[in-house]
Amino acid sequence: MPAQIGVTGLAVMGANLARNFARNGYTVAVHNRSVGKTDALLDTHGDEGDFVRTESLEELVESLETPRRVMIMVKAGKPVDSVIEQLVPLLEPGDIVIDGGNSHFEDTRRREAELAKQDLHFVGVGVSGGEEGALLGPSIMPGGSKQSYEALGPMLEKISAKYKGEPCCAWISTDGAGHFVKMVHNGIEYADMQVIGEAYDLLRAGAGLEPAEQSKIFTEWNSTSLASFLIEISAEVLGHVDAATGKPLVDVIVDSAGQKGTGRWTVVSALQLGAPTSGIAESVFARGLSSQRSQRALAQETLVGHEADVALPENFVEDVRQALFASKLVSYAQGLDMLDNAAAEYDWELNLAEIASLWRAGCIIRADLLDDIMKAYSGEQAPENLLLAPAFTEAIAEAVPAWRRVVATAVQLGIPVPVFSASLAYYDGLRRKRLPAALIQGQRDLFGAHTYERVDREGTFHTQWSGDK
Ligand code: NAP
Repeated sequence: MPAQIGVTGLAVMGANLARNFARNGYTVAVHNRSVGKTDALLDTHGDEGDFVRTESLEELVESLETPRRVMIMVKAGKPVDSVIEQLVPLLEPGDIVIDGGNSHFEDTRRREAELAKQDLHFVGVGVSGGEEGALLGPSIMPGGSKQSYEALGPMLEKISAKYKGEPCCAWISTDGAGHFVKMVHNGIEYADMQVIGEAYDLLRAGAGLEPAEQSKIFTEWNSTSLASFLIEISAEVLGHVDAATGKPLVDVIVDSAGQKGTGRWTVVSALQLGAPTSGIAESVFARGLSSQRSQRALAQETLVGHEADVALPENFVEDVRQALFASKLVSYAQGLDMLDNAAAEYDWELNLAEIASLWRAGCIIRADLLDDIMKAYSGEQAPENLLLAPAFTEAIAEAVPAWRRVVATAVQLGIPVPVFSASLAYYDGLRRKRLPAALIQGQRDLFGAHTYERVDREGTFHTQWSGDK
């Protein structure tokens, strides 16, 4: 029987996705550049379903039913182009090439346009959920042509995570839209992780709560509006004791955060779109600062703090929870607003309700909140900003007093809270009646004759400044 899908690239993600297809009843042809990984997969998991072992891309393509579906799961970047180059001469019009790796959406746009010239479909698919998600059901964000989704979508929906029985997979929009949405998901993930980190730091350095105590607090928080995978795993990390030293594991982990680049891509793209994603950006910068270890070591000896000796607000732990919730909401608001900006720029039709619904299970940012976000965008009139959806306007209003107390206390204590404070500044910036941008427009007109608009008349204006000749 011909295989229904082929997977090339059988490192951890490709192997687990291939197993997921097979476990769901599909016949899967498998291929890897070096045959060792193919055999390792079949030796250990070959009995989980119908696999077809292939040793070359020619064999892989020959083993597939038409239209062929070939999923590339190799290292992102040049390897993807190299595999596409080898695959294309072997394919026929109507076949579908799928890239399920973490490719940059601009690469996906370029590849889609190139393959379309040869009547081939190229589908960039965002896959979130790590190794475990790939095997048990990830959140899946496919782009590419709508026509390709008819042949591919049902299979992806079947292997995807399910939220109350609904698949966490739907066609996002054309060309690189799937990879773009996955990239923004990762940007939100960075911010989500950073705000949890800031809460931990405040409770530790501010309130003196040990990791084990915090683990209990995070477990309690996981049954509030903060309920999410990241809060759940934070409780587990904080409760973990290092076997070698008997200390909390978090205390023996070097405080320098790594990054693979998708957060950075989100911020670069946000800057290009002019989308204000300050919370997401600060979370990427915070990782950067954490990894400047030699500068930090010198600064610890050199730079003075003049921290104030302030008393903590009465219900500090609850205040921190509310500040965390409000800052998290802002990250989602900024990420979704960025998607709106991108839809206009790249001519995508992005359904924000549906996108929020895909993130409710399987992916790293899965959270109860996403169901409410989906509902907020499901009405006839989508809100211009998540924070302007009535349910969220109300929710964030309740958190504002605690949020201000926490940021003010953190500043006094010298505990950096870049995302808590940037998010609060964004919130205040949005709601402020007059922004200092008026002065900036005046400055721009003075030094560069860039003109300005007036509040009382239509048109653009330039003032004859005293320095003008
Ligand atoms: P990876 O370490 O990114 O890549 C290793 C795979 O790429 C191997 O199968 C390797 O083949 C193949 N490869 C590398 N260069 C190649 C080339 N020039 N031609 C053909 N094959 C080549 O694998 P991964 O961690 O499974 O990730 C796969 C993709 O999924 C990446 O884009 C990654 O960013 C994305 N992703 C990963 C995760 C995760 O949690 N790991 C989560 C989401 C998305 P050989 O065995 O022959 O070297």
